[in-house]
Amino acid sequence: MTIPFLNLTELHAPLKQEMLKELDEVLGQSSFILGGKVQQFEEDFAAYCGVDHAIGVNSGTTALHMALLALDVGPGDEVLVPAMTFVATAEAVRYTGATPIFIDIEPGRMTLDPALIEKSITSRTKAIIPVHLYGLMADMPAICAIAKKHGLKVIEDAAQAHGAEVDGRRAGQWGDIACFSFYPGKNLGACGEAGAVVTRSADLDEQVRILRDWGQEGRYNHVRQGFNARMDGFQGAMLGVKLKHLEKWTEARRALGKIYWEKLADVPGIVMQAVPDDCRHVYHVLAVLVNNRDAVQTALSDSGVQSGIHYPYPVPHLKSFKSMGHVMGDFPVSEAVGKKELSLPMCPTLSKEQIATVCGTLKRSLEDISS
Ligand SMILES: *Cc1c(COP(=O)(O)O)cnc(C)c1O
Repeated sequence: MTIPFLNLTELHAPLKQEMLKELDEVLGQSSFILGGKVQQFEEDFAAYCGVDHAIGVNSGTTALHMALLALDVGPGDEVLVPAMTFVATAEAVRYTGATPIFIDIEPGRMTLDPALIEKSITSRTKAIIPVHLYGLMADMPAICAIAKKHGLKVIEDAAQAHGAEVDGRRAGQWGDIACFSFYPGKNLGACGEAGAVVTRSADLDEQVRILRDWGQEGRYNHVRQGFNARMDGFQGAMLGVKLKHLEKWTEARRALGKIYWEKLADVPGIVMQAVPDDCRHVYHVLAVLVNNRDAVQTALSDSGVQSGIHYPYPVPHLKSFKSMGHVMGDFPVSEAVGKKELSLPMCPTLSKEQIATVCGTLKRSLEDISS
């Protein structure tokens, strides 16, 4: 019996009738772009995040791009980003003509290291994008304090962190603006591409709404360079159905995360992502660090346990970022995570017994490989 990394078909099965009814309504209204379902979802998602405004767009990457433009980031500007993240964080910065400046992550927590920020700030630095990696919030109190001191904007990349909290405040409530992805595999996923920008600022809300809809302020009144970045009606409808279950699913992920901790935290050769006491980790990814990662992954796969890697290379070491001239050794913590990180099965539909099987198989594989 295979243990899947993620099983969306099983997750959606109990909601299928409701989802089909919603799709039927969108079809009946022909409200394919934005429309009532998207508007309702925007209101509900803003409330979920505890902010006043959410703007639906067509991907998480677009959310980052629009957020940067709303803050007037452009050519000549520098934006600080963690070296260990999905490539989209840095690509969105390049789309604006600005330069991503990479910073290493903290050991343990594995998010942007606040202690390394100040030495990377120059007269060109305009913003910081902390990434809430694997569903664990970056150290937002420290990062926001540094940003405030230096007059920098903060854009949260919350693509992996729907409902995550630090200090009792949710992802989306810390930065000037925050970006979510609803890629199907994320904690809240659409049935296709979708994303959202959330903010407490009415001005930024207005700018993102203008940007996502061809730079229009009212029909055919194009006031700035704009984009076709709107969320589609079917996705708004699917997200509306799924949002109602997000807290329950998040609690299921946290319960599975707890079992992983009980079974793996004291095992020699396994390092877990360190979760500070003031954080609500939403376990988008259950990340462990192990030696001989690729061999361990193969052994798991041979025993029917699916796993993933997030991510094998720090972004500045990707070929596409070669022109920035970084070399091995520039980002030691990110480089170690790239070599050792293994993502174990994590899905609200998994059972305790399945997690126990994963942990047993992992322990045996580690013993076999190191002996
Ligand atoms: C998924 C992801 C994105 C991009 O979201 P898309 O919806 O796939 O465009 C950006 N940043 C991070 C950290 C992500 O995990």
